[in-house]
Formats: sequence, structure tokens, C-alpha cells
Amino acid sequence: MTQLEQAKKNIITAQMRRVARDEGVAPEFVREKIAQGKIVIPYNKNHRPKKLCGIGEGLSTKVNANIGTSSDSSKLNAELKKVKISVSAGAHTLMDLSTGGNIAKTRQRILQNCPLPLGTVPIYEAAVKAVKKYGSIAEMREEDIFQSIEEHAQDGVDFFTLHCGVTTESIARLKGEKRIADVVSRGGAILIEWILKNKKENPLYQYFNRVLDIARRFDVTISLGDGMRPGSVADATDRTQIQELVLLGELAERAQKRGVQVMIEGPGHVPLDQIQANVVLEKRLCHGAPFYVLGPLVTDIAPGYDHITAAIGGAVAATHGADFLCYVTRSEHLRLPSLEDVREGVVVTRIAAHAADLAKGRKKALDWDIRISAARKKRDWKKQIKLAIDPQRPAKVRRQSRSNITDACTMCSEYCSLKLMEQAKSKLKEKE
Ligand code: SF4
Repeated sequence: MTQLEQAKKNIITAQMRRVARDEGVAPEFVREKIAQGKIVIPYNKNHRPKKLCGIGEGLSTKVNANIGTSSDSSKLNAELKKVKISVSAGAHTLMDLSTGGNIAKTRQRILQNCPLPLGTVPIYEAAVKAVKKYGSIAEMREEDIFQSIEEHAQDGVDFFTLHCGVTTESIARLKGEKRIADVVSRGGAILIEWILKNKKENPLYQYFNRVLDIARRFDVTISLGDGMRPGSVADATDRTQIQELVLLGELAERAQKRGVQVMIEGPGHVPLDQIQANVVLEKRLCHGAPFYVLGPLVTDIAPGYDHITAAIGGAVAATHGADFLCYVTRSEHLRLPSLEDVREGVVVTRIAAHAADLAKGRKKALDWDIRISAARKKRDWKKQIKLAIDPQRPAKVRRQSRSNITDACTMCSEYCSLKLMEQAKSKLKEKE
């Protein structure tokens, strides 16, 4: 039985108990929300990730890091290093988006080395194989797609992105939109090419029950991909995007009825003033299914800084109810991320998630801030660095400061307000 099927039968699984313990909530709360489709625990029995995580309503905001080869760079060892660095930087999940080299071997090695839930996008492998075998994506057989999904599930993938909402109808709507950036989802673009050339419906939509049967067998959580997500702020919240979201809501309901855990992927590039509306729409149209947002990037003008444009959007989205943030690195739109890009991307996205958790009133989040503030007040740099979300950076910055003053920093040195207040307070005490 899947986690969802057990939750519906009032069974609290070991995984639900662990999530509840980590989050500081009652196991019954987790069970109930899973039964309602508002929390998922990605946990394929063939992987059994050591570090579990629950994603959804009432839980802390989670962070995903994307790794994986491309046709230009397919070094397995480099990707395994990215697994390690993502885990140590505090990612909650990983996605292997490989499209280069031996994709199956890369996935299997990553799974062996990944203590976190792992996600993939099976259509990528099906498309790459189709190009090698038949010469083009359009020649890909429907059976190739389902074989890829089955292999990923069998290997132990805990959640997979499936762009089931890219349909003949949504493509027709796209034609009337006059978008600036058209379609920026790789999975979406692959399926659009296939649908247009073959004049057939998206097999992931047409045979959705077959998809569900595979996912149910291995308890793979389906992440319903947003193939029509906006790739420019000018395209945000248009009819094509919202029509796909309506469809994803209906598919999510079908998945849940069949006992399959499901979450919904969201945009993309969205200006700040539209983020809350996007979250409200997702929660309403998808009946509270966990919302997994890819950024959103709040402006298009900052290549090289897109870890920041995405973190701003992620913090706002999570404050309004998004549950899961996919990181964006500084190399977004430019190249495959380096090791340092990955590390920094995870940290920056965790800051966004934490800022949202504070706004959501999560006690654990506030306690962390209070502890670091207390250390800061005492000018206890050792403790402040230890408590920092990324101790490496403040330790390096502090080391670089060449000052003889040890109980202040070079920012205000002898006029350190914390020190002056401490002195003023002790004088007041002496007088009492
Ligand atoms: S010198 Fe200024 S910045 Fe540095 S610890 Fe004191 S108050 Fe803070």
C-alpha cells in the first residue's frame, strides 16, 4: 500500500512518524493531511531514502536541488560530488535531470549515493533515447515513454515530474497567446514537438491511468509538471498557464483517488505582485495539493544573479503557502551549474524557505533566529558562525577582517552599539 492508501485507512506508518518527529507535529496530523492529499512523503520502497521529508501544509518549507549531466558535460563523478555538496548544504531533496552520457547508470549511481528523496523527469531519457534510436523526438514511441517511467520507478526514484497537462488543447491556447518566451520547460517542449508532429494527444494525459498504475506500484510521488510555465514575467498568469493548472488539479484528484501521492509544479517567471494569486489559485484548483515552485524568478533582467531573483520569489511564494522550493543557481540561463553554484544555490534557497517559515510563524524557525541574535548581542562570533545557515562564509569573512579589536567588528569598531549598550547597562547596574 502507498503512504496515501495507508493514511486513508487510518494507518500511521513509520515514515509518517519520522516526519512528524522532525517537524514537531503529531503523527495523526501528518496522517490526516496525507489522507487529504495536502502532504506527500516521497518514499520509493526500492530506494528507502535515509533522510525522509514530508512536503505540504503545516510543515516547514522544503528545498530541492537540481543536478545531472547534459549532452555537453556528462561526468558522473562531478554529479556525485554535487550530490554530496547538496546534502551538506542542507537540501531536502535532489532531482537528477540528466540528459547526457549513460543516463540510466548516472541515475542508479546517484540513487546509491543519495540519502535524500530523489526525483527525475523520465521523458528526458525517453527523448534522448529516441533521438539516438530513430533520429528525432517525433519518432519516439508511446511505449518508450512508459518504459522510461517504469525503469525510473523500478530503480527507486521517489518522485517524478510528468508533464501530463501539455495537451492538444493547451497547445491551441498557446498559439493565441503571443508569448514573449514561448515554452521554457524542457519536458513541455519535448511533448509539444511530439504532439504536433504526430497529431496525437499527449500519452501521459491520454493514458494517465497507466501512469498511475506504475506510480502506485512503487509509491512514487507524481509531481505534475508545468510544461506551460511562463519563462518571462510578461507571460505570467496567462490563459495557457492557468488552463494547464486547471487540468493538473483534475489529474491530481484522479491520482489521489487511485492512492497515488501527488504535488503540483508551478511557475516560472512571475512578478512579485502576481505571486500570491498564483499560490491561491493552485491551492484552490488543486484542493490543497502541495505546491512545488520553480523559483519563481521575479524579474528577467539579472542573469548571473538568478539565485537571488528566485529566492525573492520563493520567499514570497512560500509565505503565501507554497510548500517546496526548487533552487535556482547563479548559472541559470547561462551554463550547467558548478559545484560552488550548487552549494550556494541550496543555501540561498534555504534562506528563502526559512524567511517564509518565520512569516508562517513556525516556532522552530523563530527559535533559531533568537539563538543567533543572542550570540550576536554577546559578540560571540564563534557561536554566531556555528549557528549560521552557512558557517563557511561568515567564518571566511571574519578571518579576512584585519583588526586588533576582538569584542567588536570593523564595521563600527570602537562605536559598536552592542558594546556601548553593554557598558551603559553595567554602569546603570553599578549605580543601583
Ligand atoms: S561593530 Fe557594529 S556591526 Fe560590528 S558587532 Fe558591533 S554593532 Fe554589530
